Amino acid sequence: MNNIERARMVGLTLTGLLLLAVACVYAQSAVWPVAALLGVGTIVCADAALNVQEKARELHAATHRDLATDWAEVQASVRAALADEMVFAPTSTTVHACPPDGSGLMPCCGRTPFELGALERLTEHGPAVTCPGTQEDDRA
Ligand SMILES: [Zn+2]
Repeated sequence: MNNIERARMVGLTLTGLLLLAVACVYAQSAVWPVAALLGVGTIVCADAALNVQEKARELHAATHRDLATDWAEVQASVRAALADEMVFAPTSTTVHACPPDGSGLMPCCGRTPFELGALERLTEHGPAVTCPGTQEDDRA
């Protein structure tokens, strides 16, 4: 509830109490029609004050709900983007052994590095080699 809503609540409540007080005065003087009219005014003020409070609560809840929804959408879109990234990122590539000094051929499969595909890589680190030619060489 913001300050304007609080001010409206207080204003309506004070007006309602004032009407009730005046209604009591008229009731004591036995001027019943005026007392009844002021009593109805009191009820209207109380109802309006409750209405202001209810609307303020609804607005507050709606604002928080919207924020929560937006955040959920942001999270979902980020997850989707990351998932796409993972799909397109090379998760498994063939790694070939770097040709030794003085040779233009990769020892793993006997091809030249120029024959590699875009996602294939070279390494000088033996255990990182995943070229199927390595296994054949090991078995041979
Ligand atoms: Zn190879």
